[in-house]
Amino acid sequence: MGLEKFGDREIYTLAESRTNKTGQNNVIVNGEGSDLNKRDALKGRAKRKTITQIMMLKLIDIAQKEGEPELEKSYWNTYYCQQNLFTADDRLYGKYCKNRFCTLCCSIRKAEMINKYHVVLKEWKTPYFLTLTVKSCKAGNLSLYIKKFIQGFQRITEKHRKRYQRGKGKKLIGIRSLECNFNPIKRTYNPHFHIITKDKEIAEVLLSEWLKLWTPKFARRPAQNIQKVNNLESGLIEIIKYGSKIFTEPDLKKRKNQKDTTQIYIKALNTILTAMKGKRIFDRFGFNLPKQNDKKQMPAKLLTEYNEWEYDISSADWINIKTGEVLTNYKMPSHLEAILSENIDLSMK
Ligand SMILES: [Zn+2]
Repeated sequence: MGLEKFGDREIYTLAESRTNKTGQNNVIVNGEGSDLNKRDALKGRAKRKTITQIMMLKLIDIAQKEGEPELEKSYWNTYYCQQNLFTADDRLYGKYCKNRFCTLCCSIRKAEMINKYHVVLKEWKTPYFLTLTVKSCKAGNLSLYIKKFIQGFQRITEKHRKRYQRGKGKKLIGIRSLECNFNPIKRTYNPHFHIITKDKEIAEVLLSEWLKLWTPKFARRPAQNIQKVNNLESGLIEIIKYGSKIFTEPDLKKRKNQKDTTQIYIKALNTILTAMKGKRIFDRFGFNLPKQNDKKQMPAKLLTEYNEWEYDISSADWINIKTGEVLTNYKMPSHLEAILSENIDLSMK
């Protein structure tokens, strides 16, 4: 897969109102917006918005029941992410919530990150892919496990950085991301690091340090995975993910022609998001990114003639607030509709 498709960079947009002569509010937008002619991308956005909105209502419910007002507030922000869109001159502008569990924002952030890191990683001659994990745990222990994951990893890289500064050994260089799976049968959580290292030796050092750190009681060699990166692009896409999978297959080996049993374990998702809150999910170690000069903000633009669209859940699309026409013409496939209406597992533990 090429990286071109990620090229349509979109910067977060702020909209603000002021009334003009014709009675329509003027709108100030930031960023370059996105291309209104990319119909498939627009449909993808409608799909992500629909999934996100349905999920957020469920998560809000849980946050209320569990008495987590801060998380509840973030869920509401994501619920309203890109609720209203503005279009002018074939460009599309919206306001982003920037939360890590927002599928709308993540798809944009992911594209930016992949572009940024690809520049560096493509210079690595033999990058290695490493997965580090420990024995799965119960919900009540997940926060502690995730804390220990991040601390432990830092301790390892720090130790080798100091050694390297004393002229011994080598610096550990790579990127890592934290992910957590939920096993609905055992109702356990499996946090793990996905890592790309600069070379094989670094991956081997990390692996042996990890096993030593956690001891055989928690981490055994067969559960860890080390292999050469064959395709850097897909490796990067794999690693630059945020948080957790929304959809889970309860039958880990799914047979052909079987009814779609994909489930959304909403309580498990909330548990994972809570445990990961404020944690650095993605990080690099042992190197810096080259200075970027595209950081400068696009100048704000004043839109005097534009269309405004508001998202409507029953249409799974944005509706023109004046004409009533739909923006993307997205039609939710029946299997997705079924998953979202019937396969959300609301059990609390
Ligand atoms: Zn968002």
